[in-house]
Amino acid sequence: MLDPAVARILLGGDLDFNPDELYCRYEQERRLRVRSEGSAQYTGAAGAFAHFGEDPWITDPIDREPITGHSSTIIIGGGFGGLVTAARLRGAGFDDVRIIESAGDFGGTWYWNRYPGAMCDIEAHIYMPMLEEMGYSPKHRYAYADELFAYSQSIGRRYGLYDRACFQTTVQSAVWSTASARWTLTTDRGDHLSCNYLVIAAGRQSLPKLPRINGIGDFGGHIFHSCRWDYEHTGGNAEGAGLTGLVERRVGVIGTGATALQIVPPLATYAEELLVFQRTPSAVGPRGNCPTPPDWVQDQQPGWQRRRRVNFQRHITGSMPDVDEVGDGWTDFNKQIQLKRNMLESSVGRTVTDEEFDAARRLLDYRLMNHVRDRIDQFVPDPETASALKPWYRWMCKRPGWHDDYIPAFARPNVRLVDTHGRGVDGFTPSGVLVGDIEYKVDTVIFATGFEAAISYTELLGFDPVGASGRSLSQHWTPQVRTWFGLMTDDFPNCFFVGNNQQTGAAVNATHTIEEQALQLSHVIGALQSHGGSVVVPTVDAVDDYISVLGEHVNRDLIQFHAECTPGYFNNEGRATKNEELFSGGRFADPLIYFGMLEEYRAHGKLTGLEVS
Ligand code: NDP
Repeated sequence: MLDPAVARILLGGDLDFNPDELYCRYEQERRLRVRSEGSAQYTGAAGAFAHFGEDPWITDPIDREPITGHSSTIIIGGGFGGLVTAARLRGAGFDDVRIIESAGDFGGTWYWNRYPGAMCDIEAHIYMPMLEEMGYSPKHRYAYADELFAYSQSIGRRYGLYDRACFQTTVQSAVWSTASARWTLTTDRGDHLSCNYLVIAAGRQSLPKLPRINGIGDFGGHIFHSCRWDYEHTGGNAEGAGLTGLVERRVGVIGTGATALQIVPPLATYAEELLVFQRTPSAVGPRGNCPTPPDWVQDQQPGWQRRRRVNFQRHITGSMPDVDEVGDGWTDFNKQIQLKRNMLESSVGRTVTDEEFDAARRLLDYRLMNHVRDRIDQFVPDPETASALKPWYRWMCKRPGWHDDYIPAFARPNVRLVDTHGRGVDGFTPSGVLVGDIEYKVDTVIFATGFEAAISYTELLGFDPVGASGRSLSQHWTPQVRTWFGLMTDDFPNCFFVGNNQQTGAAVNATHTIEEQALQLSHVIGALQSHGGSVVVPTVDAVDDYISVLGEHVNRDLIQFHAECTPGYFNNEGRATKNEELFSGGRFADPLIYFGMLEEYRAHGKLTGLEVS
């Protein structure tokens, strides 16, 4: 506990809350939610639930003959990771890059997530990749899903990626042959393809998950998952307009995470009655979206997007530049903490210890969450509903959300919060949703229950690449993931991983990581070719060295922080016991250190740590 005088300096006055009470309340709420089955409480869209994962966007199913042939590069995944990498490689002269994508088009998470109100809560000017090259100005400060999807398509068109793309195609195997120095791939369409370079850019937000509860198949109404929205049933569009199919229906939404925050307001506008089934409330702050001023992008200096991303990240990690360029909810809390630390140090005339800083941080966190909770009372007149919407955990225990219309939606007469007090929904009847023994009658159910987060990398891929020694990637990564910069691994020549994977940096803005990795990847391939080589693989020593450097930069305290958090996919449903088991674990706590190492590597121009042949 902090000295009361120090606390007064920090908070600018006396404590107006009791930290011990809050600590106990958070702990009570956490205990209420921890389940012995952990992630096994969920099921993926497989077997009897496979239809929840089917692609609703394909209007024109592809019926084609199997393809055989060779490309310099095959990229698995056509989201921003695959697209940016392909664009960089096209820029480096590779004109035969082939992207293989299970969906019907480019876009990744923005292909799948087209639910009403879908948008990105990272500022569009730092989130949308390659804005400068594309000469594009985001329409709003926070972009809507249809713009992000259309933008993905325009990257595909600009870099000529459509011609060789294989959509509606799933890779089934990838095997390296040392004799031919190639990867050979097979797909579910009978394709036999080969390439010199294999890039795996599979994102984590396309596979829906459902609660493993009874009776889903017995429900007689209409039911689907948020990332496979059924517009035939609801009518309307991703802007949230025209959901006229719901005007005479009782609609149930299960889940109250980042997705539900965006879905609830448009549903509340159209549904005759909307029931929101809540297990744990989200922490919701104001959004304040607005159009991008007409000349905003043109007025920026070259290199602005990268600088703005760095500025954003520096405010999040606490090494603050003077100006907070993005200045939103993501940067605000960390900025406040750092400012308070500086203020505290100048008041007490010495450096604060880590213990003091942790205690100070906890107090500021309590106060921030008090603001989040108090804000709800301004919008929701019914005290019981307002109270149930209040989150009792620390900031960043769960992904924070921002929306101006979510909380006010609960003031509408047709919207009802069904607070399950941490229990969740228990099952279905033919005509409704069960919470305990109580049946809530509904006509339409929408699962906003998130994505498969607890599966391994190769489960996510749906195949297990085989490296030079004949071992699979999952075997190679047992007991531990092994990478060089999170980008390559020993024994898997010419194979690159792109995305916010383990052993990269824990960046909130995923496209920041993607763009830095794509630069690194094209640098490695370019340098390889200028050395006259065609095969590149990190040495065992280089991988070991990287893992040991990474170990010095992982935030070991994070596991303690998450141990006190209410369960969710961030902390492996409350069961993570080591940093690597956290969703963002096993990564550089400060992604700028990671990006800096990549940049330094590129600057020295040698292929240190890589075996070239
Ligand atoms: P989440 O996993 O964040 O949320 C799932 C929700 O379902 C939680 O509220 C969870 O409750 C609830 N739930 C699970 N099981 C039950 C049950 N049996 N009964 C009732 N409720 C249940 O999924 P989202 O789709 O909301 O978000 C996933 C991720 O997608 C985000 O964290 C974010 O990374 C990304 N996203 C990003 C957006 C952006 O703007 N960039 C927008 C939307 C999503 P509990 O909390 O108790 O587990």
